[in-house]
Amino acid sequence: MAGSGSRGNGNELYEILGVPKSASDTDIKKAYRKLAKEFHPDKNPEAGDKFKEISFAYDVLSDPKKRQVYDRFGLKGLQESGSEGPSFGGHDIFSQLFGGGLFNMPGGGRGRERYQGEDTVHPLKVSLEDLYKGKTSKLQLSKNMICTACKGKGSKSGQSYQCRGCRGAGCKIQFKPIMGNMSAQVQVKCTDCNGEGQTITESDRCPTCRGKKVVIETKILEVNITKGMEDGARITFWGQGDQQPGVEPGDVVIVLQQKPHEKFQRNDCDLYMSHTISLTEALCGFQFIVKHLDGREIVVKHPPGQIIKPGDVKGIPNEGMPLAKSPFEHGNLYIKFDVTFPSNQFVQPEQLKMLEELLPSRPSFEMPSGDNVEEVMLQDYDPNDRSNSQSSRGEAYQSDEEESGGRIQCPAQ
Ligand SMILES: [Zn+2]
Ligand SMILES: [Zn+2]
Repeated sequence: MAGSGSRGNGNELYEILGVPKSASDTDIKKAYRKLAKEFHPDKNPEAGDKFKEISFAYDVLSDPKKRQVYDRFGLKGLQESGSEGPSFGGHDIFSQLFGGGLFNMPGGGRGRERYQGEDTVHPLKVSLEDLYKGKTSKLQLSKNMICTACKGKGSKSGQSYQCRGCRGAGCKIQFKPIMGNMSAQVQVKCTDCNGEGQTITESDRCPTCRGKKVVIETKILEVNITKGMEDGARITFWGQGDQQPGVEPGDVVIVLQQKPHEKFQRNDCDLYMSHTISLTEALCGFQFIVKHLDGREIVVKHPPGQIIKPGDVKGIPNEGMPLAKSPFEHGNLYIKFDVTFPSNQFVQPEQLKMLEELLPSRPSFEMPSGDNVEEVMLQDYDPNDRSNSQSSRGEAYQSDEEESGGRIQCPAQ
């Protein structure tokens, strides 16, 4: 492999994320999120390699220990320290980084396709409970496996003949528009022989795979969802993608999709929920039960005299999600409160006076006098229903005139 300037200078992972070496954890996280969104294989299936680079760079730089090793000894140091992240179960990423795969690949990695098949990306919906507690999910996949009957030759005899469509080249030349009216010559796989360059005579076809060299088999993957994994987290099964003769299988990549939860919302490692209390509770203290994601019943207490106002947010430390990197640590749980007020006439007027004696005294009011003083009663008001309220008011006036001569128009005299 030709030496590359960008390899082994101890900066490549920072360069991948586009941040300086002095970047803070927050900067790194921000940069990662932006890039991960942009190069997510769901949106951008061509960018699988780029995504792996980004994920790997983030995996290292977001972990203080790994970052330290990397800063001091570079990629080599990481490899030697046997460092690996949860979603980088093998050393393959290193061989890709070192072996000329990812780092000095012009034009986004076209050179690799011949040797490695496409990655298969599968979304996997997971509940917040599963992300909280961790879970092993079994995922059934069907994939192409090399036919064992013909050992991937496709023929009974092991013979094959040159493809007529491509004269054995396995590919054809096509013109592909690039910018405006410019076009480029590109090599595309020959569809007649599926890029093999060889075809098999009808009578010699392997009966098991019908000459396709591969058969579809069902495989069960055990997906290990660890505590605190995030929405969009990727679990890679190296080399578990479709098999094809002469091609290194791609990876199966499971992308977690966090299902919405009816009670909790998640923001990183913090959980948010809302809870409605009565006015009595808001003033006099309360306790209530939160059933947590692991089934625990947490009795939340608030002492009398500590007033909760509508919209107040209170926190419970360490009752958020576990941290993916350190599952014994947790984020916080935040509860936003709403307060329901009693209904109209919930007590007799005399009792209201008793209540008023207990509550803070009202601001003083002095009745003004003179001709320019008017008294009005508040009415219910619906801002979304202007035209209606106007017309109904018109009707009200009319019926008032007909019936009793108007209650509303005439102020108390
Ligand atoms: Zn062909
Ligand atoms: Zn076969």
